[in-house]
Amino acid sequence: MRSYPPEPFRIKTVEAIRQISFDERKAALKNARYNVFGLRSEDIYIDLLTDSGTGAMSDRQWAAIMQADEAYAGARSYFRLAETIGKIFSFKHFIPTHQGRAAEHILSTLLVKPGLSIPSNTHFDTTEANIQARGGRPINFVIDEAADPTIYHPFKGNMDIGKLKAFIRETGPENIPFGMITITNNATGGQPVSLENLRQVSEIYRRHKIPFFIDACRYAENAYFIQQREPGYSEKSTLDIANEMFALADGATMSGKKDAIVNIGGFLAMNDETLYQRACSELILWEGFPTYGGLAGRDLDAMAVGLWEGLDESYLAYRVGQVAYLGDGLLAVGIPIVEPPGGHAIYIDAKRLLPHIPRDEFPGQALAVELYLEGGIRGVELGSVAFAHSDPDTGEMQYPLMELVRLAIPRRMYTQAHMDFVIATLTRIGERRDSIRGYRITYEAELLRHFTACFEPL
Ligand SMILES: *Cc1c(COP(=O)(O)O)cnc(C)c1O
Repeated sequence: MRSYPPEPFRIKTVEAIRQISFDERKAALKNARYNVFGLRSEDIYIDLLTDSGTGAMSDRQWAAIMQADEAYAGARSYFRLAETIGKIFSFKHFIPTHQGRAAEHILSTLLVKPGLSIPSNTHFDTTEANIQARGGRPINFVIDEAADPTIYHPFKGNMDIGKLKAFIRETGPENIPFGMITITNNATGGQPVSLENLRQVSEIYRRHKIPFFIDACRYAENAYFIQQREPGYSEKSTLDIANEMFALADGATMSGKKDAIVNIGGFLAMNDETLYQRACSELILWEGFPTYGGLAGRDLDAMAVGLWEGLDESYLAYRVGQVAYLGDGLLAVGIPIVEPPGGHAIYIDAKRLLPHIPRDEFPGQALAVELYLEGGIRGVELGSVAFAHSDPDTGEMQYPLMELVRLAIPRRMYTQAHMDFVIATLTRIGERRDSIRGYRITYEAELLRHFTACFEPL
């Protein structure tokens, strides 16, 4: 049997969780109109809704919080964070922001104009929305393999280089204010991008003088995958790999809620001095003074320590191993998932698990509801509820490529026994899959409907 590295930590503080009864779960679901976003956290046994800001901080992070400097300007906490970011990311400048989307907001405000295009492998939804809010056009060029959940590819987050080149040729670099890439590629399953691909992307953007920004939220998990899978990198440290990745870019947007293992925080980094000065003006308008940017001094210190802990190789081996443990366990009991497992989550293929439920009756939604009913587990539908929309020209329904339910694993929070419980729950759901029925929407908002939609069982 494949082995998975044990937790490289022991537990010093615990938070009680409890399983409410089946009847209570049934009532809670009905009360939430069958949308798991509407559930109360205390009614959930294992919460795999997201890995964003949900991780457990270490004793060192809590100690750093106590030593924070809450000065409005020039706080010690800021300089400690600057030193860490300088060593890992090595961009000339950075501004702290309250989370990743605030960094995207400032970057988009400064560089996006109506009609301009911003290519990426796959933009995250907040990045896409921030570009669109400025009239820009976010475009995705991830490799074709990403659309097939059954294909193994070591770097399924890679950019399709041919498509990117053709796009720049057709659009003209003057209509592309900056280019991006997301590492790991969250929207296609937390799949990594290779250094070879990053190098090619960087070369293309630089040849056309297009500033290159990395969406770096899960850069450490990406660095670990490079070390494990890319020829020539097995002897390099994750820090060396991170340095090599960021040397290829002109800047980065970062959500500290992912690989910096904090509950709130983020930053925008760049080399361009003029852009930095303009970003500072926006920051003061929207977030705060450039040495705190919408955060408390203690948040900056927690991030300064968390960035190092997130890059630690024994932690990353355990982290990626825990995700693989859940994925392998589900495959072993016949639950179809997106393969190979990514860095932060397992994506269950609800279309293959529940083939009898048509897409307009939302197989992913049905599975998310069953997970809660059967085991008190919360995942999130990423299928037709989240992504289907009617074509503005024809009025015809456009369905996404896949009907997925994501189980995101918070960092350092749940143990292998919790993962076993998830596998056992899904085993029972798999056994009675034929009896599971679809849903119909009774209320939906115009935008991002999955957060607030109401449902009724069919
Ligand atoms: C979470 C995330 C963001 C946005 O960060 P927030 O801190 O949630 O605002 C951007 N890009 C990716 C890839 C993310 O996962």
